[in-house]
Amino acid sequence: MSRTMTAVLLGLVCAGGLLAAAGKLEIYWIDAEGGAATLIVSPSGESILVDTANRTPDDRDARRIFAAAQHAGLQRIDILLTTHFHSDHIGGMAALAKLIPIGMYMDHGESVEIARPQVAAAYKTYVEQSAGKRRILKAGDTIPLKGVDIDVIMSAGQAIPKALQGAGAPNAACADFKPHGEEPDPDNDQSVGFVLRFGKFRFIDMGDLTWNYEQKLVSPVNLIGTVDLFQTTHHGLDRSNSPQFVWAIQPKVVVMNDGPHKGGPPSVFETLRRSPGLEDIWQVHLALDTPKEINTGEHMIANLGTSAECKGNWLEVSVDPDGRYTLINQRNGYSKAYESKR
Ligand SMILES: [Zn+2]
Ligand SMILES: [Zn+2]
Repeated sequence: MSRTMTAVLLGLVCAGGLLAAAGKLEIYWIDAEGGAATLIVSPSGESILVDTANRTPDDRDARRIFAAAQHAGLQRIDILLTTHFHSDHIGGMAALAKLIPIGMYMDHGESVEIARPQVAAAYKTYVEQSAGKRRILKAGDTIPLKGVDIDVIMSAGQAIPKALQGAGAPNAACADFKPHGEEPDPDNDQSVGFVLRFGKFRFIDMGDLTWNYEQKLVSPVNLIGTVDLFQTTHHGLDRSNSPQFVWAIQPKVVVMNDGPHKGGPPSVFETLRRSPGLEDIWQVHLALDTPKEINTGEHMIANLGTSAECKGNWLEVSVDPDGRYTLINQRNGYSKAYESKR
């Protein structure tokens, strides 16, 4: 084979991503010890990274994200979506950009916590790094990622004005809603939230949207409809994940992107397990402050120890075009297949 031809073939493989050749959608929940970093690779080979987790002196989280991107055969991150400007969602951004090119930056608009010096500094870095490549998202927008459909359903505190296709049924659980007090970190409620569709498969990620704001999407009617896979909101904390929200979207599979000491209190497990049609909960971390028997089965947990000894295993889902999807635990290779609902 000529050198030119080899180069052309290599170029084709790289441009499309290694896994894209199989026509599957892949999502990775990268362990960030309670931070957020969700890498989505479309069957087209295009990619969107949702949040860049924490900043640490050794760039731990940026390197973990890069390892997943390399595993997926990516040469670049096409879109970085920052749900909001807290340090566990944007901390690894500058370090990551030194490891892999980032095409576009999407977010909810200026942070509402700009008076806090730490947030102001992170936001300034973001504005500088995203200059000329930034898009501010509104509810109702779509995110262009070839091969999948992504609807922005929440941004800057505003929900979509009308229901997604097929949704809009009244939510009976709303009669029992008990509001929480005011949220102390208001940028959480500015989070960009979205529903991703790939054939019959539906995935939802709401960033750190909290309890009261969740109601905007599910009360009095459910604007979202149901989903197959739910990334617990806010790392599985009980400041989010109200029964009214979870029981409206009725996930079949839940991935909790918790840390060893963040997310996964018993009340959230109870809400999830009482959700109609729930089959399994997978966890990025064993929640060490919650009794072991309340956590999910150990085989479905990617990391079991404290952060100091953590290898940072990810959870992954591989979705076939026909709607069949398989969850995979990087720690032990355990996998389980599910069928999309529709
Ligand atoms: Zn967070
Ligand atoms: Zn860990």
